[in-house]
Amino acid sequence: MALFAHPEFDNHEHVAFHQDKTSGLQAIIAVHDTTLGASLGGCRMYPYADDEAALTDVLRLAKGMTYKAAMANLPMGGGKSVIIADPHTDKTPEMMQAMGRFVESLGGQYIVAEDSGIAVSDVHLMAENTSYAGGLNAKFTYLGEPSDGNPAPSTAYGTFVGLQAAVAFAFARKLGDLSGLTVAIQGVGQVGFRLAQMLHTAGATLIIADTHRPAVLKAQLAFGAQVVDINEIHAVECDVLAPCALGATVNPNTIPAIKAKVIAGAANNQLLTEDLGQALLQRGITYAPDYVINAAGIIDIHHQQTDSSPALMKAHIEQIGATLTQIFTLSTAQGEATNIIANQLAEAKILAKRKAR
Ligand code: NAD
Repeated sequence: MALFAHPEFDNHEHVAFHQDKTSGLQAIIAVHDTTLGASLGGCRMYPYADDEAALTDVLRLAKGMTYKAAMANLPMGGGKSVIIADPHTDKTPEMMQAMGRFVESLGGQYIVAEDSGIAVSDVHLMAENTSYAGGLNAKFTYLGEPSDGNPAPSTAYGTFVGLQAAVAFAFARKLGDLSGLTVAIQGVGQVGFRLAQMLHTAGATLIIADTHRPAVLKAQLAFGAQVVDINEIHAVECDVLAPCALGATVNPNTIPAIKAKVIAGAANNQLLTEDLGQALLQRGITYAPDYVINAAGIIDIHHQQTDSSPALMKAHIEQIGATLTQIFTLSTAQGEATNIIANQLAEAKILAKRKAR
């Protein structure tokens, strides 16, 4: 298995492999870049087909976190970790504690948080053996719901703010005016449901799809949302498509069928491949780059770890709107896809910091 020649390797600073025989832990931590600060990123637990698949995932995700933190104006770098095991059958407290020791061994270069397959309670177990764990305790909240450190409410709010900026740009509307608009939400889980709530309150009409029947019924009941099949949601008549489920909503099969003028949602990796951003631009669709619009979760985790306040955190999350407007404006001026513009802006920030050292 190649590392330096791996297709996803992109000058990662540190890649560590660890096995703990007693608990059965097999894990990888990838630190992509710490120019802007210590790397922060979730730990994903997944029964990867092989080590190669786990390495591919962790290298790609760690790099993504570098860009996300930079565009969220955070003094943080990008990192990620993966545990190669099934979260439903293999997870034990001993394994999580061993993961904590592994995180600690990097001496603070990497701060762990939750991700797919890892709950806040698992990060608590890791934190028994490391002081480098985030998203554990919310010191404060500002959306009116109690929080255990779960960043989903903030992610939903940041997505709402970003969606408003995209609508204002694409439809030349006053910022915040969503009246009469139809938004199609793919996935009404932790983030999608809260986003639906905010959109409903703002006067938007909702169309939803979800694979999980109880989630569908809950959103239908709460917002009078129209329900469509999961294979149709991308193609419905609407103004905004909000992918809030899995990745790759935008792919060569779906692009010709998309009727929305705006794509703005919380899901990670919405484009199957980077070049599809250009295809969206050519179709006149305003695409809010995923890692920019969904960054409020790490903004939340950062503020909970520092001497901050609800007001400061909220103001920081609201910067997502201005950042997206800057991206849309540059994209139009340069004829370059919004995802590429976002990458360029993030790289410029990191380079500027390196030069200033
Ligand atoms: P979640 O698991 O709570 O919700 C996802 C929902 O999508 C579920 O209700 C699920 O049933 C549904 N779903 C799955 N496959 C589907 C399909 N094919 N069509 C329609 N619905 C489908 O997850 P979440 O925390 O709400 O996160 C949603 C997305 O946002 C994910 O891509 C996640 O990576 C991303 N994200 C989440 C956060 C966060 O703070 N939770 C932060 C950044 C990014």
